Amino acid sequence: MQRHVSVGRTAQLLPRRFLHRQACVDFALGALTSRAQYSRINPQAMRHEELSEDEIGPLVDDAVVWANQHGLVVALKDPNFVNPELAVVHAPLSLTPVPYPRARFQLAQQVMPLFNQLVDAVAADEPYLESTLRPAAAHDAFTGRLLGTLAATRDARATLRAARREVVLGIHRSDYMLDEPSGKFLQVELNTIASSFGCLSALMTRLHNYMASRMTSLEPGRLPANPALEHIPDAIATAADSTGLRQEGGVVVMVVQPGERNAYDQQWIQLGLWERHRLRTVRMTLAEIAATAKLDPATATVTLKGGAPVCVFYFRAGYTPTDYPTETEWAARELIERSNAAKCPTVAYQLAGTKKVQQDLAAPGVLERFVPDSRDSGLLREFFAGLWSLDPRDVATDPGVAAAVADAVARPEAYVLKPQREGGGNNLYGEELRAALRAGGEQLSAYILMQRILPPANRSVLVRNGQWSQGETLSELGIYGTFVRHGDAVLLNQQSGHLVRTKTSSSNEGGVAAGFAVLDSPYLVD
Ligand code: ADP
Ligand code: MG
Repeated sequence: MQRHVSVGRTAQLLPRRFLHRQACVDFALGALTSRAQYSRINPQAMRHEELSEDEIGPLVDDAVVWANQHGLVVALKDPNFVNPELAVVHAPLSLTPVPYPRARFQLAQQVMPLFNQLVDAVAADEPYLESTLRPAAAHDAFTGRLLGTLAATRDARATLRAARREVVLGIHRSDYMLDEPSGKFLQVELNTIASSFGCLSALMTRLHNYMASRMTSLEPGRLPANPALEHIPDAIATAADSTGLRQEGGVVVMVVQPGERNAYDQQWIQLGLWERHRLRTVRMTLAEIAATAKLDPATATVTLKGGAPVCVFYFRAGYTPTDYPTETEWAARELIERSNAAKCPTVAYQLAGTKKVQQDLAAPGVLERFVPDSRDSGLLREFFAGLWSLDPRDVATDPGVAAAVADAVARPEAYVLKPQREGGGNNLYGEELRAALRAGGEQLSAYILMQRILPPANRSVLVRNGQWSQGETLSELGIYGTFVRHGDAVLLNQQSGHLVRTKTSSSNEGGVAAGFAVLDSPYLVD
């Protein structure tokens, strides 16, 4: 069902019955044991059920107008504009927030600094990265190339570390789905490069606060604070300050994909860097960096055309093979890696965020090597889904792995098959998954097998390009974490906001930019 938005009508206040769902909910930790019990008390099933079409239309109008007025926008790329890059449209959005159990949500916030620390510890153990990723790299050239860059820059990085000029910047997003059978948030993946939508997501929280002010059925106090708009630029500025290059006119380089000049989520970070820190951002592609940036071999300082030194390279590109069409882009990546700028991420951080490492950390005893405190590792493991290696050597020697593979062939709907890729649209499901496992072979070393997380279904009003539709949906929660380390001193390690993406139940993938999902926000129920 699709409806056009007619701008200009005013929403009426809706009666309280719209969101009475939270009344009978008990989401205490550990209370959710059986699927039947969960379904009975699942508040999401009640979402929107009592909103009529007449009620929805005016509310959608209000939400779209608010989004346009407050910069909750994405590029429209309208060819009728003189400069199509400057045309914008409201971001794809959900009309009202998604109920999530408060205690589980807060636990996901609390664990984020531990995930930041885990990434830092794994990235520091380069022999571990190499041994874990080498079998995957044998069948995945992109992973192999990143490992090659890690090795080629090792001496340069050691020199910087010895001179106390190593500055590490992590802007992470740990993605989860609420797993209905267990009642837990289980981690889908941990993003260490180009973790996007933080700023638009913070605006989404403000939009839902506005909706809550218009609808007596929504309580604004149940929308958790979302500090991503401030925390992300602040983390970049902290790293920039630590490099000691700001006094010399240092700038931030945002590494972007060609043609993405108009990504407003990114522009919000640039605006925050300027307004909060008077820090200038230069947007450059890897090819532009290769053509114009110079690395001083004595100091490892990179300067741009005009002489400004770079204090931070912040990547919103570089996570997928298509970002490196030629050797030129790899040369730029290596130059950045050798430089004394803070990199978000370093190659090691990027590799620590690969799906193969995620799977390996879940194996018995591996996480514990990096997180010695058993309470911390126990808390992290609360969020781990079932993950199995598909390296033929592991399948042959580990009975647990062999049993999971056999079960996945018998019940492919209970699993997801993932390659070493980022950015959405790469996973295999159902019959494709079964066929790949049956075919077997060495190339499966570059894939991991994952338990399929089963989030509760919901009913949502999804608004995209000014049109709304109502349907059954699933949601994915992301928690942002920021981390800055200068040498041995950790300057920043915190939870920095959240993202909720909602997609129709029939879609396997969840990306907003990829066109699968809309932005949403959490509504905490007790
Ligand atoms: P990418 O790096 O491409 O974002 P993800 O691991 O996030 O890779 O997978 C993409 C999407 O596939 C997720 O947003 C989610 O919708 C779906 N997905 C991934 N893993 C699972 C899983 N274990 N169970 C259910 N859905 C999953
Ligand atoms: Mg993802």
